[in-house]
Amino acid sequence: MNPSISAEATLTRGPLDDAKAQLAQAVAQLDVSEGVHRMLATSRREMAVAVPLRRDDGSIAVYEGFRVQHNFSRGPAKGGLRFSTAVDLDEVRALAMWMTWKCALVDVPYGGAKGGVAIEPRDHSVGELERVTRRYTSEILPIIGPDMDIPAPDIGTDERTMAWIMDTYSASKGHTVPGVVTGKPIALGGSLGRASATSRGVAHVALLAMASRGLEPARASAAVQGFGKVGRDAARFLQEAGVTVVAVSDVDGAVVNEGGLDVMRLAAHVDTTGSVRGFDGADELDRDALLTLDVDVLVPAALEGVITEDNAPDVKASIVVEGANGPTTQAADEILTDRDVLVVPDILANAGGVIVSYFEWVQSNQAYQWRESEVNERLGERMTNAWHAVVEHAGVHGTTYREAATALAVKRVIEAHDLRGLYP
Ligand code: GLU
Repeated sequence: MNPSISAEATLTRGPLDDAKAQLAQAVAQLDVSEGVHRMLATSRREMAVAVPLRRDDGSIAVYEGFRVQHNFSRGPAKGGLRFSTAVDLDEVRALAMWMTWKCALVDVPYGGAKGGVAIEPRDHSVGELERVTRRYTSEILPIIGPDMDIPAPDIGTDERTMAWIMDTYSASKGHTVPGVVTGKPIALGGSLGRASATSRGVAHVALLAMASRGLEPARASAAVQGFGKVGRDAARFLQEAGVTVVAVSDVDGAVVNEGGLDVMRLAAHVDTTGSVRGFDGADELDRDALLTLDVDVLVPAALEGVITEDNAPDVKASIVVEGANGPTTQAADEILTDRDVLVVPDILANAGGVIVSYFEWVQSNQAYQWRESEVNERLGERMTNAWHAVVEHAGVHGTTYREAATALAVKRVIEAHDLRGLYP
């Protein structure tokens, strides 16, 4: 294996090291040439921009922004835009690579991309966020477009952000281009069912994973880390399926109720107070203690790198469903596998978002809206198909689900690359 593209043990491993290690494992299973491995380990296109912002007080702040397009073999690049102070180029590279595998695994005709601005959105007014978004969009404008690269929401961004991107892009073209982003407000051509699609998919595969381990929803318990775009509705859908959701957390803290939280009432509390803390239907819990609670299913649905070699030995759940991208480090993954914990990998578990993004893009490009039931039904079909493909591959090759999912995805990307050929 080429040392420059293998995962090297470094003191400060980050998501890109984990993503490259996962790729190396998949490549080892697949008999891939070193040159193709090198291509897949490298982003096709990267853009780093400065994003100057005129603040409300008249001063000027400057933020780093990135857009990384990892691969185009199966179609235009696709992936979210993240606003977070943790954003750096390597993180965005890793997230873009995972998007390539995710899109290939659930068979949507895209390559992977990701964008980020190193900004704390909670420290800015709506006007400032709008100006940052529009300036960032105008900087990356030459490399995005409905046939080139289609952003979507991720951590710290939402449908309002997508509306600003769509408007900025459209203003530069002189006409409205709804297909340039997904995750738009419904009134601007967003898809019914997109807002809760990731969570719906997470709950869908969680139930499939539980069934595969003989766990009945009515007898199962779950803890959900994160009560944002993914965790909140994932907790709701799990509860609707009969699972007892005993704990959830957000950036400020965690709450626990062994008898089961009332997720809808907790959501109303968060809407009023901005945090899960102080909810009268539960006890307070240390935020990190949520990950090692005695539950059947653990859903990390917040940030990457939260299940580490330090806490993995103490994880008591028998199933981990990765609602977030990259929540389990490579070292933790090995520990969980040794302990026979079933890890449903991110590129499968949270693919519902990009699946319905694809449906939204199709609807936007055709200027036609599908019924919500149709969206949800097609989402379920794709999640189920991907789940069975992963289970089968893992069974045949004796691998973990993450290795199987990555290998299946890498194989599809290589197939497309081989059919197209290397230019020139
Ligand atoms: N940010 C989401 C993800 O990581 C959605 C990406 C998309 O819909 O393009 O999957």
